[in-house]
Amino acid sequence: MTALSTQLIHHPYNPPATFEAVQPGVFKASTVFFPNVHALRTQEWKDKSGYTYGLHGTPTTFTLEERIATLEGGRFCVLAPSGLSALSLVDMAFLAAGDEVLLPDNAYGPGKAFAEGDLARWGITHRFYDPMNPADLAAQITPATRLVWLEAPGSITLEFADLPALVAVIRTANAGRQRPIVSALDNTWGAGVAFNAFELGVDVSMQALTKYPSGGADVLMGSVVTRDPALHEALLLCHMRLGLGVSANDTELVLRGLPTVALRYAAQDTATRALASWMQDQPGVAAVLHPALPGSPGHAAWARDASAAACLFSVVFDARFSQAQIDAFCDSLRRFKLGWSWAGPISLCAPYNVRSIRTRPWPHLGCLVRFAIGLEAVDDLQADLQAALDALNAA
Ligand SMILES: *Cc1c(COP(=O)(O)O)cnc(C)c1O
Repeated sequence: MTALSTQLIHHPYNPPATFEAVQPGVFKASTVFFPNVHALRTQEWKDKSGYTYGLHGTPTTFTLEERIATLEGGRFCVLAPSGLSALSLVDMAFLAAGDEVLLPDNAYGPGKAFAEGDLARWGITHRFYDPMNPADLAAQITPATRLVWLEAPGSITLEFADLPALVAVIRTANAGRQRPIVSALDNTWGAGVAFNAFELGVDVSMQALTKYPSGGADVLMGSVVTRDPALHEALLLCHMRLGLGVSANDTELVLRGLPTVALRYAAQDTATRALASWMQDQPGVAAVLHPALPGSPGHAAWARDASAAACLFSVVFDARFSQAQIDAFCDSLRRFKLGWSWAGPISLCAPYNVRSIRTRPWPHLGCLVRFAIGLEAVDDLQADLQAALDALNAA
């Protein structure tokens, strides 16, 4: 008589094979079974023709990879456990000792920290270029340049770079090079919805699925998408060697968010533009930064290259307000919570000290607060901002 535990583990029942439902099933595994030793020796996972081990893909992760590749207009996708790990994967896949990576001055801060803290330790140098000046990028490229990061718009200050012009600079520099410079876009803001990164000419598009594709503010994940098989292979092999995996439950959450990503993007875009334009006219506000607002840096490039805008705007307050007054303004908001990240259901805000995170001069004197608009009604958010502004201006 076989022991109960063995009977339960090797149970003969299999459910009927076809089960069709709206959302795909969730598969979890470290071990996956091979039908025989020949299959164990030869099964291929890199082209998704089979399964070999949980880290190398499951039906759940393959499904999300294919959908994210479609969302971004690319061909291949790898998933990483956070947006930041997707970003550092790109650095590690393409850079070696002696190489240099160029970053836009307004890049996502933790990506800068990875260059400063780890790439530097590994003999990989980095420099910052002015993303609003393609000639500055051209001037910074040297024979050591191997990777150029792009971001449109920049984190916090939301300048929308002329991506085709920056890509053109990289292509010119690549003429006759043995190891061409790879261009990589942090596409978290566009999310694959606002514009097609590959049609604008970039080689690699990375995004934090944590933001729009999830939409719930309850999952961390990142993706790296390419159209080029050789770039994808370099990413995939580095990803495998690093042992980067994503959980099936987290993957399910992102798969759950994807059917509504375009609707959420559009709804949050409309609400954000309404509040950003309203903020522009309020006393005590020196400038509102949002690429869809005429006069915001890079507005013309945004209008040419994008069809929508994400849920972020930044407000530069009048220079007469101290940081303590702006902190009190943020503390007095009720609907807006204080916290990082964005594209979830709840509106957020956070003050930033721009001068401390930039190498180039910043034209504004006042304090900056970045707002991320959630899915609440615009009127309720506006009333909250109005009350906080009234208190600020009365102070
Ligand atoms: C949030 C974010 C990331 C990192 O995503 P995590 O999942 O939080 O690691 C990277 N780039 C940009 C522009 C982001 O907004």
